[in-house]
Amino acid sequence: MKASQMYLYTLREVPAEAEIASHVLLLRAGFIRKLAAGIYGFMPLGTRTLHKIENIVREEMDNAGAQEIQMSALQPAELWQESGRWAAYGPEMWRIKDRNQREFCLGPTHEEVFTDIVRQNISSYRQLPVNLYQIQTKYRDEARPRFGLIRSREFIMKDNYSFDRDEEGLDKSYWNMYNAYSRIFDRCGLTYRPVEADSGAIGGSGSHEFCALCDVGEEEILYCESCDMAATAEKADVKDAPAEQEAEKPLEKVLTPGTKSIEAVCDFLGIPQEKSIKALLYQVQVSDDDPVKYVAAFIRGDRQVNETKIVNALDIPEYALTMADEAKMGAVTGCVGGFTGPVGLHDCTIIVDSELVGLKNMCAGACEADHHLINVNYGRDYKGDIVKDIKLLQEGDPCPVCGKPVKKAMGIEVGQVFKLHTKYSVPMGLYYKDENQQERPVVMGCYGIGVTRTMAAIVEQHHDDNGIIWPISVAPYHVVIDVVNIKDETQMNLAEKLYEDLQAAGLEVMMDERDERAGVKFKDADLLGIPIRITVGKKAADGIVEYKLRRGGDIVEYTVEEAEQNAIDLVNAERRG
Ligand code: ATP
Ligand code: MG
Repeated sequence: MKASQMYLYTLREVPAEAEIASHVLLLRAGFIRKLAAGIYGFMPLGTRTLHKIENIVREEMDNAGAQEIQMSALQPAELWQESGRWAAYGPEMWRIKDRNQREFCLGPTHEEVFTDIVRQNISSYRQLPVNLYQIQTKYRDEARPRFGLIRSREFIMKDNYSFDRDEEGLDKSYWNMYNAYSRIFDRCGLTYRPVEADSGAIGGSGSHEFCALCDVGEEEILYCESCDMAATAEKADVKDAPAEQEAEKPLEKVLTPGTKSIEAVCDFLGIPQEKSIKALLYQVQVSDDDPVKYVAAFIRGDRQVNETKIVNALDIPEYALTMADEAKMGAVTGCVGGFTGPVGLHDCTIIVDSELVGLKNMCAGACEADHHLINVNYGRDYKGDIVKDIKLLQEGDPCPVCGKPVKKAMGIEVGQVFKLHTKYSVPMGLYYKDENQQERPVVMGCYGIGVTRTMAAIVEQHHDDNGIIWPISVAPYHVVIDVVNIKDETQMNLAEKLYEDLQAAGLEVMMDERDERAGVKFKDADLLGIPIRITVGKKAADGIVEYKLRRGGDIVEYTVEEAEQNAIDLVNAERRG
């Protein structure tokens, strides 16, 4: 395409809310335009790159044996009521009514819809397995839409669902998709890490997230270099400290004026933080009609709490857990802000981190202002309604698998695979008859890739101060031909020849023949991130052009033929992968 005919508008200034490179550069380079908070449109170059990513996803899904369908974004509430998620999904779901007051949602995900489609036709083991996918627009009314395409309220997702006879079949489907995901992200040029993940609101158990490694990523990953442990912080197990053998001393109340933090009380009493118990006070409310319930969680003083583990232990939706209003909670349960301990609390659910069970003679709040208890022991002095690992794994902690210190990295979650088992097939009645005519629930898996988020993740990993550096596989055009002086007929003719030749060889070419200074064209070519730039200038008369790769390296003078051959070879090599 000729630049003079393109709908291409770069921006000099971007709004202050654009903080990270992908957001800034996709706006500046004119790939996307904002419509409202977390809602974006894709301009011509953005659309080309989006289609490239979609096609990589499509090819790998097709190769892995999945079949493409296209379902509506509008979903009737009844389907979600069948699965039980209409009530449980929370404020992220866009709920709407039609003119007859019938309820719908704009789908945040499609488990119910795909289960419904498959149950209409599948009844025998002979029809399984099945794997269906779609590349489709999703809606989530995120609390904090930000980072452009990374956390938006409307986004494109590839989602697919596998349907198998049994767990063994699911396992096969799961690893088949896991491998397809690895190929997709390889082809997109991403540096990523598959890590064990929590299954969240989608449900089920057994899950991996694919995280594009990147400092601005929102996902915290803990990994071990001595073994292959790698998990999100939410998911990672934490080893309990070994149980202590010391004799239990008598419980004692001590005056600790003004010591509201773990640090303050431990300093005051001259004890290490590992000998103290930290309290975290929550309230739980699933829907506005439910009464508020209180939860007190206790962990060793030097630890951090993992709220995902608390949500899972309570079996509630994530949004239902918030920090408690201490005064209100105190009136009901006897807790006292800054001086809460597990002894003497009432009318609340007490969650105790598993490691506290084996620790002896601890210090904890006395549920009385300016007082703590010392020599607090589990079993004798207090008990938990729930006893589980609720700790957050932190950099340097021992690896839960091999014990060596773990490392931390940040990542952008670009995809996730889940084993759903029978979480949807049972409530929604998706059964089949096996060889013995026995009815069995279909065993399901689900798999998602954030296509638009992937586009942003690629930019995060491939850019410099001047702009985007697209990998060839997803670049909107492979080559940009910059004509230095469009009034020079020799230059224009040579550029036209290049343009025609490269296109004939199957390359996607953009020719910048706008009436602009060469400097402006070079700047734009860098900003847009086109992988190969060929400049036709003064030496056109001798059939010489300049050849430069966006990802770095020198400007090289080539004959037109050499430049063409280099470009063709490079693009073909990258296409073959
Ligand atoms: P997150 O934890 O980042 O909110 P999620 O785990 O809720 O994401 P999934 O339900 O696993 O997301 O959705 C599948 C994929 O869709 C994610 O891996 C991600 O790439 C993409 N995705 C999810 N939410 C968004 C969003 N708000 N904007 C853009 N992409 C998203
Ligand atoms: Mg996810």
